[in-house]
Amino acid sequence: MWLFLFSPMVLQPLLGNGRGRLDQLYVLNLFTTVLWAGLLHFSIRRSVVLHLLLAPFYLTTAIDLFLIGMFSNRLSSGYVIIAIMNSTDANEFFAAYARPVLLAFVVMAGIYIFGLIAIRRLRFHHSRKMSVGCVSLLVAVYAALVVRGLHSNWSLKQTVLHIVGNEMSVPVGSAFQTSLALQVLAQESKLARQRDQHSFGARQLRANDNEIYVWVIGESSRPQNWSLFGYQRDTSPRLLATSGIIPLPNVLATAPDTSVAVPSMLSLWPVTDWNSILAHRSIVSAFNEVGFMTYWLSCQEPDGWGGVIPQVATEAKRPQYFDRAFDSAMLEEFRTILDSTVPGKKLFLVLHTKGSHFEYSRRYPQAFARFNVASGAHREQLIDSYDNTVLYTDWFLSEIIAMLTNRNGPAALIYASDHGENLLDDDAQLLGHGIGNQYDLRSAAFIWVSRPLRSKLSEMSKNATDNAGARLTLSNLPHSLLDLAGIEVAELDRSMSIFSPTFAERDRWHLVRGSLRSESDD
Ligand SMILES: [Zn+2]
Repeated sequence: MWLFLFSPMVLQPLLGNGRGRLDQLYVLNLFTTVLWAGLLHFSIRRSVVLHLLLAPFYLTTAIDLFLIGMFSNRLSSGYVIIAIMNSTDANEFFAAYARPVLLAFVVMAGIYIFGLIAIRRLRFHHSRKMSVGCVSLLVAVYAALVVRGLHSNWSLKQTVLHIVGNEMSVPVGSAFQTSLALQVLAQESKLARQRDQHSFGARQLRANDNEIYVWVIGESSRPQNWSLFGYQRDTSPRLLATSGIIPLPNVLATAPDTSVAVPSMLSLWPVTDWNSILAHRSIVSAFNEVGFMTYWLSCQEPDGWGGVIPQVATEAKRPQYFDRAFDSAMLEEFRTILDSTVPGKKLFLVLHTKGSHFEYSRRYPQAFARFNVASGAHREQLIDSYDNTVLYTDWFLSEIIAMLTNRNGPAALIYASDHGENLLDDDAQLLGHGIGNQYDLRSAAFIWVSRPLRSKLSEMSKNATDNAGARLTLSNLPHSLLDLAGIEVAELDRSMSIFSPTFAERDRWHLVRGSLRSESDD
């Protein structure tokens, strides 16, 4: 029976695409797994009582195994959020898998009941010493993690959420994941309820059957390190060789952090009105309303930094998480989705990448470690690994574009990083983002339009090329995409769309650590 409860942890190293990495985190989860099991084993004498108490964890273990089998992913807070939102929302994730879930449940219940009968007379000596030992070690481990978090200048809340998010031991990790999910859903709950009620009343302005729109959210990727934007190192060779790409060299983030920038880049409301962004649905729902099949694939699990992003994700009919994976895990799923889509069906997919998230060297497989000045100093090594993440992103994006090109149909892709990154650039020696300077407020961004869509909407394509060099922010992009896709909603402002002849530049605002600033303040 323990083997069943431990099985997700045993199977995890077999998962592909970087997910099975036997890294520090896996070792840590293995350690807490042993400690929790030891604590339970030495505290409760009658096995049958212990395993009756563990009944909820048999259920979560079954779900964990289902997710491993179906999506090569562990049960994480992201899936708990999907499950909770599924009962109230349009997304049809679990409905689509009702049968395998039911089957897994029946098999698990059979094994469980048989096991309980078999161990009904089994008794162990309980040992207070061993129980206290396990508790002490658990407290020591979690306390050490808190100290490490605070040492990195994280707030206590962020630190705790980070630890909870990473606690994937079995079987109790599912309790940690559930508590994180509930915490995420409780955020801004009044505005979230308002958002649930909101609908755009979207209309379709032109026939858009068969069209595919893809929105790739980048992470911490600044244009200064892309050869697509003039960097001297060849970090984006594939995109430079791709036709139909319209680089947007002058895009500012709406905030130098993920939790604001991502909801804002998918919202029709400006960052100057943050509460309205929280109180209304994203453009994903506008696509739903006019009959698009919508997907949200994410390599970013809910944690202390994502804010309401997991709630936005559940607007998609099919949200899906790829925990701890390289971004390429989403490519396989993307291919499967395209292959299983019947002609005539229209699609909107959001792909939330891990991109150039710190630590950079953990974001790409070894084959992409091309920039490698072995003798370099600390900063050179940092830049090397950061540039390798850009090279990997270049490959990732060009693979998606190649798949769309092969379909030879009307399609477009928007890529936009949530914000940039400081890389010990000047005397201030700053690393990371959240600061609000020229390094973390600039976002790498471009639009790609397929040849069939370019010829269908030639006027719009020309406008975009003309406006591409303008001073833009991430807020221009959702208006641009709805305009391109021929979706009309009351909040669509065509003067924000680079595809429109009425496009006009605006003041560029951003929200930095809770206060609004415009470009002229910087
Ligand atoms: Zn970010």
